[in-house]
Amino acid sequence: MGQIYVPTAADFPKTADVVIIGGGIVGVATAFWVSRAGLDTVLVEMRDGLSTLTTTNSVECFRAQFLEQPLVELAKPSIEIFDNFADVIGIPGYDISIHHQGYLFMTDDEGMLDALQKAVQQYHAYGVTDVEFLTGDEVRRRFPFVAPTVVGATFRQNDGWLSTHEVTQGFAKGSTAKFLISTKAIGIQVDAQGVKAVETTRGTIATRVVVNAAGPFARIVGKMVGLDLPLETVRRQKVFIAPQPEIPQDAPFTVDLVNEAYWRPEVGGALLGWVDPDEPPSEPAETLPVDWDFPAIVLEKVLRLSPFWEEIADRLKREEVHVSAGQYVYTPDNQPLIGPVPEVPGFYLNCGFWAGVMLSPEAGRRVAMLITGQMKPEDNLLRPTRYAEGIYHPSGSFLSGH
Ligand SMILES: Cc1cc2nc3c(=O)[nH]c(=O)nc-3n(C[C@H](O)[C@H](O)[C@H](O)COP(=O)(O)OP(=O)(O)OC[C@H]3O[C@@H](n4cnc5c(N)ncnc54)[C@H](O)[C@@H]3O)c2cc1C
Repeated sequence: MGQIYVPTAADFPKTADVVIIGGGIVGVATAFWVSRAGLDTVLVEMRDGLSTLTTTNSVECFRAQFLEQPLVELAKPSIEIFDNFADVIGIPGYDISIHHQGYLFMTDDEGMLDALQKAVQQYHAYGVTDVEFLTGDEVRRRFPFVAPTVVGATFRQNDGWLSTHEVTQGFAKGSTAKFLISTKAIGIQVDAQGVKAVETTRGTIATRVVVNAAGPFARIVGKMVGLDLPLETVRRQKVFIAPQPEIPQDAPFTVDLVNEAYWRPEVGGALLGWVDPDEPPSEPAETLPVDWDFPAIVLEKVLRLSPFWEEIADRLKREEVHVSAGQYVYTPDNQPLIGPVPEVPGFYLNCGFWAGVMLSPEAGRRVAMLITGQMKPEDNLLRPTRYAEGIYHPSGSFLSGH
């Protein structure tokens, strides 16, 4: 079983086959698969717990509705892993609170219907054959809370959400890795062979393999080996609204494609968000400001196509609203960087995610397969060398915000 602890001089590991920097859901999933491959694995996390930065600020959803083939190749097997989580981690009965309540991308703009129908065809071509195109009447028949103006939607019942806390803890418990918390990587030593050691605030770990899973800080970790990784961090805010009787708890993750605002039920209340296309890039940060007027802006946006929000917005009290923020990480083609970096032998990336919760299980498994040679770098569509090779994958999934 994996061990999560604040190391002392006595139990600080001096060596490891693989050191993973970053204990968000991506790093922890990577530690699970790497340690399960039989490698002595140490993860270092600077904060005092796992998944306490971006991952905990997400709305914890997953979907297979992606227009990018490389993302579908991560999302589909990741959902299978979520669906069989207890078996995968080997802990019978382990519960990640999975909800298959679906993802509904809807519009009231007739001009978007063609794009929606084409998207559904594309999903089917990628093997995600259970995505449906719904007419406005069909949307309202299934989801009576939707406005009469809605003219169409895409819907996949098997999309949904889960507990990222439970997934993270489950991957950690099901691994054989050591998770050193309150331990920050501050440098990476290299020699003629490549990566040699990771320097941390509690000591140095000799290793020939390092995985950069530092989330919004991945660019800073890249600089430790002289790389300037093409990563951009952009703040995204979310709102939690305390339980209200009008919020249908059986609703899907519901997106207004015209203004890119969304909501989903959560423990009697709801989580809401808006992917603001004009939010500027910001420096990686552990503490992010939130906008006092963000809840009002989001409510105004979601009530357009889910009108029951209007009544709630009118009577909502300040103490029933909580806003928080994290950062999406974008790359030049909005798809993550996964795999070895040839300039620095032994240095691997697993970063550049704007939807890292839902892609983390398979992204972590892929890193393990690349480290152990079970996957050839050229078979990995998300290899970090792709831009130098002139490959920029087409992007444009709904709600990517870029
Ligand atoms: C509002 C919002 C909603 C979102 N909703 C979703 C969603 O519904 N579904 C989805 O899939 N994604 C969603 N995302 C995106 C998702 O949260 C991220 O893509 C995902 O959490 C990234 O995980 P991570 O492990 O890479 O990063 P993080 O969770 O940030 O983990 C990185 C870790 O690295 C640590 N670290 C950094 N530098 C160092 C160092 N030098 N030494 C040691 N440790 C270090 C950090 O402390 C941090 O814990 C959302 C994000 C936001 C902000």
